[in-house]
Amino acid sequence: MQRLVVHLGGINFMCYALYRVISIRERKLFLKVKRQRSINELKRARDRAEEASRAKSAFLANMSHEIRTPMNGIIGSLALLECTDSEARRRTLTAVARQAADGLLQTLNEILDYAKLDAKGGSLHLAPLDIRRVCQVAVQTFQANAIAKGIALKFDPFHLPSDVAIVQGDEEKLRRIIMNLVSNAIKFTAVGGVTVRLRGARTTQGVRLIVRIADTGIGIAADKIPLLFDPFFQVESGMSRSYGGTGLGLAISRQLAHVMGGTVRVRSTLGRGSVFTVRLLLPESVENWVPAPLDVPLPHRALAAARGKTVLLVEDNAVNAFISAASLETMGVASVHASNGKEAVDLFQERRFDAVLMDCEMPVMDGFAATRLIRDHEALTEAPRTPIIALTANALSGDREHCLRQGMDDYLSKPIELRQLSLLVAKWLGNQRAAANAESSEPKAQDAVAAARAA
Ligand code: ADP
Repeated sequence: MQRLVVHLGGINFMCYALYRVISIRERKLFLKVKRQRSINELKRARDRAEEASRAKSAFLANMSHEIRTPMNGIIGSLALLECTDSEARRRTLTAVARQAADGLLQTLNEILDYAKLDAKGGSLHLAPLDIRRVCQVAVQTFQANAIAKGIALKFDPFHLPSDVAIVQGDEEKLRRIIMNLVSNAIKFTAVGGVTVRLRGARTTQGVRLIVRIADTGIGIAADKIPLLFDPFFQVESGMSRSYGGTGLGLAISRQLAHVMGGTVRVRSTLGRGSVFTVRLLLPESVENWVPAPLDVPLPHRALAAARGKTVLLVEDNAVNAFISAASLETMGVASVHASNGKEAVDLFQERRFDAVLMDCEMPVMDGFAATRLIRDHEALTEAPRTPIIALTANALSGDREHCLRQGMDDYLSKPIELRQLSLLVAKWLGNQRAAANAESSEPKAQDAVAAARAA
């Protein structure tokens, strides 16, 4: 009996020892797997950080190139302009500088667009739009580029059924998508051409629109296609890049299509060409649609009425002040310069101006604070309201409403286009009613610049 107890005790002990050995091994194994997992996670985080840092460096190098190249065109042209007497050569140099500056602005707009979409996700501005017209105008913008490259650019709306026309959509976003894709198609095509084809059908939910942009260009390797819509991705990168660009166009286009509930897809064969397809479902418009005028003509009579008037020009940057003053001079409008908000308020209290062009960001006192003080002064002296037009480089937030809330009457974003400035001068200085309009300070007052832009 005693032996049996000893045996059982022994077996018991053995089982316990075995159990302990197994559980210790299991625990070790568990800890090993856990450690390995943490190591893998750390490795992935390190790879991600390295990739982000690589993308950032590539982006900065890319941007430096994208900014320096047009700057070279601008600075070079200006230097040559100084030492040429030939009128024809002057015109060519001015055109080169202008083209380079437009390119620079487009790059900046692309970066801002991306930042805006990334931060806010983008909101829809729905209005009735004519599909054919929007697409045709977007394509036509590139006709000159195609001719310069010696390639064909065709627009084929004939597969869109004739009963599909006006839909409810965001015109600006649709235009941007088409323009980004057509601009790429032309950029990456040296021989042959680009065809933009519209297809679509009416369904119970709305119009199914398919825009197909096909090119006979360099094409894209199959392993690059999954990365194509990533921000900053370019098939060619580094010093040997033969095409310009920010690497944001496709990322922006896809984001815009997503905001509209649609898609952008690509099929491509290296060396043979690519086909980008945009698919959107757009509700049919029930509103009456009136086509926007193609261009707002300059109101010459109002501009003539503005001659001889005086503007208080508030701008801290001497170069910008010079350009604005010279632009006003071409319209026969005089200007008095103040280099910050405080100087502007002091000048305003001394004498009357017909309007104020007010920069927003300035040292000493910004444009908003100066506007508030000017409005207080007007209220105190019971003087009629002077139109104040904001000049701002803050294209990111596009805060026209903010300027209006601060007591300003209109808004002009930098760089200032002579035509837009002319429209504002005509609107606010060109007739007596302008001042009366300003008194009501209606934000929804007809905005000549916006109308011109929309056109
Ligand atoms: P970007 O054109 O400014 O470089 P995108 O985002 O528009 O930026 O395009 C990203 C990349 O996709 C381009 O750099 C190019 O390598 C490739 N790509 C885009 N469209 C085409 C096309 N039609 N043909 C060949 N490659 C293209």
